[in-house]
Amino acid sequence: MPSRPLRLLASLLSPLALVACHAAAQQPAPPAATGRPTLVVFITIDQFGSDYLDRYGGNLTGGIARLRDGGATWLRGRHDHAISETAPGHATTMSGRFPVHTGISSNSQGVNTADAPLLGAPDVGASPFRFRGTTLFDWMAAADPRTRALSVSRKDRGAILPIGRAKTDVYWYASNGIFTTSRYYRDTLPTWVREFNARQLPQGFAGRTWAPLLPADRYAEPDSNPLESSGRDYVFPHVLPDDPAQVVGAIRDTPFMDSLTLAFALAGVRRLELGALPGRTDLLAVSLSSTDAVGHKYGPDSKEIHDQILRVDRYLGAFLDSLVALRGPGRLLVALTADHGVSPFPEWRSPYYPNAHAQRVDPRNAWRLAYAAMRAAGVDTAAVDADDGFRVVDREAFRRANVDPDRIARIWVDALRPLNGVMRAALLSELAAADTVHDAIARRWLHMLPLDGPVRAVVTPEPFGYWWNVTYATHGLPHDSDTQVPVILWGPGIAPGRRAGEARVVDMAPTLAALLGVRPLEALDGRVLPVQP
Ligand SMILES: [Zn+2]
Repeated sequence: MPSRPLRLLASLLSPLALVACHAAAQQPAPPAATGRPTLVVFITIDQFGSDYLDRYGGNLTGGIARLRDGGATWLRGRHDHAISETAPGHATTMSGRFPVHTGISSNSQGVNTADAPLLGAPDVGASPFRFRGTTLFDWMAAADPRTRALSVSRKDRGAILPIGRAKTDVYWYASNGIFTTSRYYRDTLPTWVREFNARQLPQGFAGRTWAPLLPADRYAEPDSNPLESSGRDYVFPHVLPDDPAQVVGAIRDTPFMDSLTLAFALAGVRRLELGALPGRTDLLAVSLSSTDAVGHKYGPDSKEIHDQILRVDRYLGAFLDSLVALRGPGRLLVALTADHGVSPFPEWRSPYYPNAHAQRVDPRNAWRLAYAAMRAAGVDTAAVDADDGFRVVDREAFRRANVDPDRIARIWVDALRPLNGVMRAALLSELAAADTVHDAIARRWLHMLPLDGPVRAVVTPEPFGYWWNVTYATHGLPHDSDTQVPVILWGPGIAPGRRAGEARVVDMAPTLAALLGVRPLEALDGRVLPVQP
């Protein structure tokens, strides 16, 4: 009979177990409060609003439930920046700094670059070339150069940004079904990664069915809203393509991708011997992307997102069991958070979110007026674009015409302000004059973008608002539904229990550093959270 970690690893990889996966049959006792952790595990669930922690009642029984109930849990956790997207959220997790200081303001201003091609995969290259400053891993490595790190995600930005600029083991999933990295990190894939890829686990999901994990009476959600999945294949069961070449892409929109990501992470922990050396503390960062894919496709009110959360809960249960079995109780320090939350489809009256007045916002007329003013002033309209707000991409074009970009941005702002569904439109310089203690919207924009940067003005729709042309469920606004995320710390020296106060994701890295006794290498935006009640 295989040892427990091997058995658990096998259960993660067994196709049957992926459907009826390990519910938390054995809940290990809380970690012993003695000894130093040898492995920090930082888990980010992509698009996991903190309301998901309690929404599904007793249906959570796995790793999420174990961390929620056995750790210090801040339900009022949040990102305190405006553009609640994957790249800025992940850059925040382990840096302890807001996007205005990490330099990562949005997905489009994230990691992708032709300068760092992938190894063995056709997708666009990626590196942390925009990321500024240091992260928890850099602080740990400065304290002990033997420290090792592994960062894994389905997404390039989910793997790269938690680690910052360090050239270490950072891998993500490519469209051709392999886990890989870019030439920023290495020139060839290590043996363990090639061996994992050679098993062709994604192809094994060809023809597989995603059906609800639990009996029908355990789900409150109807499964019949054609807003889901653009009206195609929006009712369970969902059947994956028979063609192995197609399934490696299609699997990304299913819970199964998270099980593959965790299986890959576990293979890396074993082969890199993370956490195996007493006296050394290593770092494992895992970002699980299926919740984001399922959430975008079916929405946060769907039966599919409920089932996805149950499955990632079970996968994480098996994963944590395996890590504890490998490295021993009391050796893990685990953090759980998310890069952002989500807002429901505006046309779907949500039972979970007060979105009755949600509206779509169409900014196209404001752009028409701004372009007309630019043409009249002799500035090429290609000198601006709509990225993150009113973004100047060619300052020189304005300088040549002797035009202040903020004069044009003002025209854009004035056209947006009276629009239905717009809560606020402002020059960044105006937001800088706001009372940022009480004005969360202004504060979140100022935590996002530098005053002297290319974005001159920004617009904030009302809560639960959507842009006019978005056809899927989404996130990205400074409002609470998109910014509320769990902040959970679990491990030796951390008293379990729910904390009533607020905690920000920028507080997680300084708190972990304090628990480990390592010093941050620069000024941080976060503060150390009280891990004792
Ligand atoms: Zn997303």
